[in-house]
Amino acid sequence: MLIYIAGAGAMGCRFGYQLLKNGQDVILLDNWDAHIAAIQSRGLEITGDKTDTVHIPIMHPTEATQKADLIILFTKAMQLPTMLQEIKQIIGPRTKVLCLLNGLGHEDVIRQYVPLKDILMGVTIWTAGLEGPGKAILAGTGTINLQSIDPNGKGDAEQIVTILNGAGLNAIYDDDVLPNIWRKACVNGTMNPTCALLECNIGQFFATDEAPIMVKNIIHEFVMVGEAKGIALDEDEITKYVMDTSVKAAHHYPSMYQDLVQNHRPTEINYINGAVARMGKQLNIATPYCQMITDLVLAKQQILGIK
Ligand code: NAD
Repeated sequence: MLIYIAGAGAMGCRFGYQLLKNGQDVILLDNWDAHIAAIQSRGLEITGDKTDTVHIPIMHPTEATQKADLIILFTKAMQLPTMLQEIKQIIGPRTKVLCLLNGLGHEDVIRQYVPLKDILMGVTIWTAGLEGPGKAILAGTGTINLQSIDPNGKGDAEQIVTILNGAGLNAIYDDDVLPNIWRKACVNGTMNPTCALLECNIGQFFATDEAPIMVKNIIHEFVMVGEAKGIALDEDEITKYVMDTSVKAAHHYPSMYQDLVQNHRPTEINYINGAVARMGKQLNIATPYCQMITDLVLAKQQILGIK
């Protein structure tokens, strides 16, 4: 099976590495020249729970020619349309496309490039970091839930689950993945912009007097909008999940903090709280917390000159 990882940042490197180690035919696709050059010359260097260096093919998306059996999308949300445009030539009649990005609404973008029957949507709680070009930090463990948008695609999707599990990625076929995607979005929507704006870690934010009311209101807005879109969300269960995660990840600086504060890169805010605010507007549901927090992150991006 020929597997492309479209977007070989931290997560793409994790998945590419684990699949390669399991004997799969893997090609990384990316547009960061220094990263491509480092992996082509030195190999992909792994640190964290183990130290390793692997030689793994990597190229620009437009250079890929062989039709894919599976494409795993791991760009940042704002890079997704460009990546899909650049990999059109490797999407054939047998190609399945699995989306594991954080955020909401990616299926609407993917369906412009991929037939609905070939799209798998998923969510992962694996994590990864990049120390620099060609250097991935892989620590801890995780899981993947995925579902074929077309129920007739379940059999093929289960084969992909088997391949992911062969690589130790703990995947399951989930007959109702959307609530889990939204639940993860609630984690991101409560922790990422708050820590990025306040320049603190998760534990520091959750210890403030203001955190409980902010977290409650953000989750409530996600739940109101999700339910209006027909997604069954349990507000109490999600709140407990967010609170439990905040304890486990207390010392962690969320990726939006890393993007905005440390690396001065654009954030995924428009696809998390921003997506809820946009959908809320269409549905006539007030989302003042999501709108305000989105505006603040966008303003901070502009102040920092991030494009
Ligand atoms: P990433 O920022 O590491 O990589 C995304 C893209 O940006 C890649 O193409 C990468 O090459 C490029 N990039 C990274 N650093 C760059 C730099 N300094 N200069 C130029 N280009 C650079 O993103 P990620 O963390 O792999 O996340 C991919 C998706 O997975 C996102 O939707 C994210 O929210 C989600 N996700 C991430 C994690 C995590 O722990 N990192 C966990 C779960 C889900």
